[in-house]
Amino acid sequence: MSFDFDAFFEKLDARQIKAVRNFALDKSNTFHIGGACAVAVFPKTELELCDAARLAEEYGLPIKVIGKGSNCLFYDGFIEKVIIFTRDLCEVTIDGAEALVKCGAGVSLVALSRMAADAGLGGLEFACGIPGSVGGAVYMNAGAHGGAISDILVCSRALDTESGEIVTLSAQEHGFDYRKSVYMQRENLICLGASFKLFGSPKSEIEEKMRENTQKRRDTQPIDAFSAGSYFKRPEGDAAGRLIDVCGLKGYSVGGACISQKHAGFVVNQGNATFDDVIRLEDHILKTVYEQTGVTLQREVEIIR
Ligand code: FAD
Repeated sequence: MSFDFDAFFEKLDARQIKAVRNFALDKSNTFHIGGACAVAVFPKTELELCDAARLAEEYGLPIKVIGKGSNCLFYDGFIEKVIIFTRDLCEVTIDGAEALVKCGAGVSLVALSRMAADAGLGGLEFACGIPGSVGGAVYMNAGAHGGAISDILVCSRALDTESGEIVTLSAQEHGFDYRKSVYMQRENLICLGASFKLFGSPKSEIEEKMRENTQKRRDTQPIDAFSAGSYFKRPEGDAAGRLIDVCGLKGYSVGGACISQKHAGFVVNQGNATFDDVIRLEDHILKTVYEQTGVTLQREVEIIR
């Protein structure tokens, strides 16, 4: 099937929506792996995002939305897709009296937890070290240190690319579970923003929790390496990192992809890893862990190709 990316690109240009043809993706994700996509779009407003997505739909072009690219492994050949980056949708409104935070899908979780702390609002401390965007975090119900997005989300707003309508989804309508939400099941939904209910708390206590969480991460995770965080989901009653470790795989590498010495649940790019290196390493981990422990691990990181 051939797609008319040129016509789409020209239409965006006419509407003055920022877009780049054959955009290199390797610096736009935390794994630092990836080839080029057909068109990358950088909407500055919700309206522009909706306009671009509806237009792509009209042209029958495959779309993928990306926040910070911190839970993705991009194919390093050509990706025949329109990739819409939410990075500029970063408006935040804080209603201190109601302890309500409303924000755009592109807002960084790290920045948002900092803003909440400054406003004396607790509930986002768990997110202070998650390097994703609000949209990506809602999509996969991101969580850490015993907290998760599902604990605080009031509602999210989404563009339904099938109907072209903007819809508001209540917390219940998200069908949240461990690393699961309605956004994963319905690819036609693009999260535009979300509202969170927090609670008043002394700033010093919030900051203390954030410091503890950050320190825990520093001590146990390779946070300065190129990775997409935990590569596998947590299997029922266990931890993927522990299983990989007991199989003696810490430090095992394929090409430039390596199992972190610091945390066996992280696959890191040592600088020159290819997409295939990571996939071959993943295959080796899956096979070894299954043979030695009987557990079938499931990938958490999403492959985009
Ligand atoms: P992306 O990687 O950009 O996208 C991930 C998925 O979300 C894709 O399918 C994408 O299409 C979809 N998506 C993104 N934005 C939207 C949108 N607006 N609408 C619809 N779909 C969208 N995760 C945790 O849960 N807990 C952790 O403790 C944690 N620690 C991490 C530590 C490190 C060092 C790293 C690199 C990652 C870690 N992660 C963790 C993974 C990642 O940061 C989170 O999953 C984060 O929520 C992903 O957000 P993102 O914006 O980067 O999503």
